Amino acid sequence: MTGFAQTGRSIDDVMSELADKRANDVKWEDGRTFGMVYDGGPEVREVAEQAASLYLHENALNTKAFPSLGAIQSEVVGWTASLLRGPDTTSGFLTSGGTESILCAVKAARERGRIERGVTEPEMIVATSGHAAFHKAAHLFGLTIHSVPVLDDWTADVDAMAALVNENTVLVVGSAPQYPQGVIDDIPSLAAAAASVDANCHVDACMGGFMLPFAERLGRTVAPWDFQVEGVTTISADIHKLGYAPKGVSVILHRTKELRRYQTFLFDDWLGGFYASPNLQGTRSGVPMAAAWAVMSHLGIDGYVDLAKATLDNADQMRAGIAEVEGLTVLGDGQFHLVAFAADPDDDDPVDVFALGDALQRRGWYHDRQTPPDNLHSTVSNSNTGVIGDYLEALRESVDEVRGTATDDRSTSYATLE
Ligand SMILES: *Cc1c(COP(=O)(O)O)cnc(C)c1O
Repeated sequence: MTGFAQTGRSIDDVMSELADKRANDVKWEDGRTFGMVYDGGPEVREVAEQAASLYLHENALNTKAFPSLGAIQSEVVGWTASLLRGPDTTSGFLTSGGTESILCAVKAARERGRIERGVTEPEMIVATSGHAAFHKAAHLFGLTIHSVPVLDDWTADVDAMAALVNENTVLVVGSAPQYPQGVIDDIPSLAAAAASVDANCHVDACMGGFMLPFAERLGRTVAPWDFQVEGVTTISADIHKLGYAPKGVSVILHRTKELRRYQTFLFDDWLGGFYASPNLQGTRSGVPMAAAWAVMSHLGIDGYVDLAKATLDNADQMRAGIAEVEGLTVLGDGQFHLVAFAADPDDDDPVDVFALGDALQRRGWYHDRQTPPDNLHSTVSNSNTGVIGDYLEALRESVDEVRGTATDDRSTSYATLE
């Protein structure tokens, strides 16, 4: 622990130390990071930065004081709802990210079950590919979670999930697409299973929400997943991923305002006054909301379609290139921007893909590690435009380098503690 300095320092001094601190961070500007930072290009960065500096000091805690933030939220939610083919009744809120959107969806499902059906021991059903945030929600909000192994194609086993539906089920979860292998679950079947007991069906489109609608406009086939599917009650979509806004903003949508009411918290017996809270935060920065509004306004649907085209071309080139490398295999039939690959299990002397990840990192390429099976994961985006050829070259070199070697480090780390 370092003590807090008695005297302050000059702005120049402070800023130069901050700049130095960043020296060992991944160099996302070079496009060599697959995930974590989504770069829509210089103009998108510029509009986000200008909006952020305009709203740096605003507080969205109370939109009576800052009506502009109320309007910004309502417009961004409305645009997203129309993109995801919500009926006119669709309503929602902005949250700080995918995790918060998911927490809100689980809380709303629990409350709906309690109030409409008298469920006191709520259960939810998730595939093993469903994001860890659902487990966090079950832990925080006291639900029993059934985690069901995926099928060989990495999609949710909808029959096994449907078989678990019972009178305590308040939520069935599907993903569009799921994060680990990038495949879309059979959402209509999951929604029907949920509807059979009047439970919620949440579609986690944190990754797909700002990709699938544009992929469809590019003529790609996208299995049904949005509000067009009857029985889908809530959807999460992250603007701070493929929506190309800076970190801290996601959308949670409910099919109706009545369903949305189960998400909110109201309290009227506090000396501080009536307290109405849409999501999990109290004091809430206006920066991510304003930046998201600005980026979406700047890009429009056409701008997003262009970014989606670049992204999907990058991902296709990457999948095809990896498939050609002897000893590696792409997991699942992902069609979109998530690419995971493992060692070919039929290989006599399988490549240690974690050692491969280290070799790639030494060459400046950063991937997430996942298991089981041991594999390397990429969230491809517009950021990676122009570098996939170099990447594949580095990949081939790295495979040659690590063949016959292994690393003791078997850790995976999607997220870290400190
Ligand atoms: C990123 C992601 C989340 C979690 O979102 P955060 O913004 O990291 O909190 C949930 N589900 C999927 C499919 C994701 O890709």
